[in-house]
Amino acid sequence: MIEPVALSTLTTFQIGGPPVARVAPVTEHDLINETLVVWGMAENWLLLGGGSNTVVADDGFDGIVIHVVTRGIEVLRSETTSEADAVTGPTGGVRLRVQAGEPWDDLVAYSVDRGWSGIEALSGIPGSCGAAPVQNIGAYGQELADSLVAIDFLSYETGEVERLEHADLGLGYRTSALKQGLRGVVLAIELKLHDTAAEASVLGSALGQPLKYAQLAGALGVQLGDRVPLQIVRATVLGLRADKGMVLDPSDPDTFSAGSFFTNPIVTEAFARSLPADAPRWPLAAEPADRVIPLEEYTGVGPVPGEEPVRMVKLSAAWLIEHAGVSRGFRLPGSRAAVSSKHTLALTNTGGATAEEVAELARYVLGRVQAEFGVNLQPEPVLVGLTL
Ligand SMILES: Cc1cc2nc3c(=O)[nH]c(=O)nc-3n(C[C@H](O)[C@H](O)[C@H](O)COP(=O)(O)OP(=O)(O)OC[C@H]3O[C@@H](n4cnc5c(N)ncnc54)[C@H](O)[C@@H]3O)c2cc1C
Repeated sequence: MIEPVALSTLTTFQIGGPPVARVAPVTEHDLINETLVVWGMAENWLLLGGGSNTVVADDGFDGIVIHVVTRGIEVLRSETTSEADAVTGPTGGVRLRVQAGEPWDDLVAYSVDRGWSGIEALSGIPGSCGAAPVQNIGAYGQELADSLVAIDFLSYETGEVERLEHADLGLGYRTSALKQGLRGVVLAIELKLHDTAAEASVLGSALGQPLKYAQLAGALGVQLGDRVPLQIVRATVLGLRADKGMVLDPSDPDTFSAGSFFTNPIVTEAFARSLPADAPRWPLAAEPADRVIPLEEYTGVGPVPGEEPVRMVKLSAAWLIEHAGVSRGFRLPGSRAAVSSKHTLALTNTGGATAEEVAELARYVLGRVQAEFGVNLQPEPVLVGLTL
């Protein structure tokens, strides 16, 4: 059934222009059928889950919104660890198939409650499971790619349901083939988590995966690589996120946002050396250099001659923004959009902001960082009809 709805009520930024036509089928079967009908009748269509990574222009969206609200978690297979495995680490696995409209954090809570580890550090991320692969959600040392096996996908290209394996999805830092233009609907995601039930029976509590994020380890008072009970990891992550306005909390205006508005830039190590010594940086795996090889140098067999890997580093967008002179809570004169009062990476709607006010603030931040450090920040949310 097609019905009109204001996108401001479906997006966490609470912005969205005039009402648009929406379908919101509640079963996977209906989601497939209604999507095919929409694809047959409308040139413009927009998929929306929790609306927590989408900013819609003030003109709204001229087309039909397919709102993904299907629910359900199915346990496909569970292999419990042996007690011998239990003392050396979690080797048992549990496979889950989760409907795309299931709220992501409900899945994390469900898994943690059952002693299944692998996504506990992703606690508190808003939005739907179907959107989680789109930007390969990540936080506090874990990302979806660590646990994702495959997705069931209704392809716009073929109109067929396909199973796309992890390797087909081009998952990277806040990106995927879906974000890069592969069009269609994620119907369900399949995850493999670690089943720590046997381990818990020996150790007394279900432990999370080894910690990979220094701030989280510090908050827990343990070392990187240590393992901590799942429930404690979840509660600590939720606390850290709340302090930064990064959980949805209707009583906290800083959460009327799309979370981080900019991704952490990835630059060459050589470029990073031009930045102030105290600019945070994290080395990434070296990539092969991008260069043209004369034919006579390469036989087509074995490694490319003279190929020097390029070392890349990830920078902190929050640090660059702050050190470009944009402080927490900053807003342009008369604007209702503001930098979060807790975290410079998030832009927020302080009440009644327009998409253009958010875009103006984003352009200002981009300009300051470019002028100060020569770095072009990239927006993280999906911008619908909006250019920066
Ligand atoms: C307070 C806050 C904190 C956040 N913290 C984090 C964080 O720590 N880490 C992180 O990675 N992200 C974070 N985010 C961003 C956001 O929560 C995630 O990107 C989330 O996965 C978006 O889910 P959604 O359902 O709300 O997506 P939407 O905004 O509804 O959609 C996002 C994109 O996915 C597409 N899409 C939605 N559903 C489907 C589907 N079923 N099939 C195909 N495409 C689909 C949409 O068309 C759109 O292009 C945060 C956001 C907020 C508001």
